[in-house]
Amino acid sequence: MTITPLNEWITAKNEPLIIAGPCGAESEEQVLQTAKQLSEIPRVKLFRAGIWKPRTRPNSFEGVGEPGLEWLKRVQKEYGLKTTVEVANAHHTELALKHGVDVLWIGARTTVNPFSVQEIADVLKGVDIPVFIKNPVHADLQLWLGGIERISNAGIVKLAAIHRGFHYPGKSKYRNKPLWEIAIELKTILPNLPIICDPSHISGNRELIPHVAQKALDLGMNGLMIESHIDPSAALSDAQQQLTPSALKELLENLVYRQASPKNPECNDTLEQFRNIVDEIDDELMNVLKKRMMVMEQMGDYKKEQHITIFQLERWQEILRTRSQWAEKIGLPRAFVEKMCLLLHEESIRVQTDIMNKK
Ligand code: PEP
Ligand code: MN
Repeated sequence: MTITPLNEWITAKNEPLIIAGPCGAESEEQVLQTAKQLSEIPRVKLFRAGIWKPRTRPNSFEGVGEPGLEWLKRVQKEYGLKTTVEVANAHHTELALKHGVDVLWIGARTTVNPFSVQEIADVLKGVDIPVFIKNPVHADLQLWLGGIERISNAGIVKLAAIHRGFHYPGKSKYRNKPLWEIAIELKTILPNLPIICDPSHISGNRELIPHVAQKALDLGMNGLMIESHIDPSAALSDAQQQLTPSALKELLENLVYRQASPKNPECNDTLEQFRNIVDEIDDELMNVLKKRMMVMEQMGDYKKEQHITIFQLERWQEILRTRSQWAEKIGLPRAFVEKMCLLLHEESIRVQTDIMNKK
């Protein structure tokens, strides 16, 4: 996949792309006042505003539509900020292109639908414009990849993904659970694709935003998209999660910006020493795991001979209980060890099932 790095068209080298602006464009005054204050924050490079708002229920604020695109022209001219809007269908895309929007983004509710993504991609054939693709609402990496591929296949090379968290059916302190591992997997599959984190839609409230933003930077994400409104309490959508431009400025000043790779040889050497130690420990770990699996195989043979079931409930409960206690005693997180036990148990069952099934 051909991808132009962010620093070739919008940011300086090693600088995360900061996107800020209201959830929705509501009035010319709101857009211009917000943009004016955001333009005074040097890190902010791209002004966002939803023009068409996908709302869960009808009769909520659904965006101002085409007239809002004229306000964004004023943002470009008067405050020198590039602009970005969400497009959800071919018509939005045509209008955004006609009005000179600098960057398009595809929202979570659109990425879920390959028909919609494809109709956007069809409009973009032969157009040189950057496009950001948000993850789909639910935790489906293939669907996210599919959306990125459709836009890439249309010839778009200024590409990035936006990680905005995932719908989660259980209890969670987040509006959309981050499931960072999915973003990391995307990075592993497409190493050159920049990933921008959207702490606003992950958090759903102002209080969680700093923690999520810092975590994104710690993981080496390539930028942040944060909602900012001149008067958040009066916002017509996502009022709980928007920051005033001055709160955003403070947040950006307090974040720790990290380097992806060491700057000096000394730091590199130290890291190398740590890595050598980790390599040795992992080698030991593999040997211990192999030993454990060999015992499992012998036990499987024996259970088969003796006509005993593979799964033994009491033994499994005992393993979980004792290992968690052992872990706690030496300061290992209980949840981590429980996860590891589950994995080991699953593999033991698999190995013993294979043995039972052998003639
Ligand atoms: C938004 O950015 O305002 C938005 C609607 O986000 P998402 O598509 O992530 O829900
Ligand atoms: Mn929003």
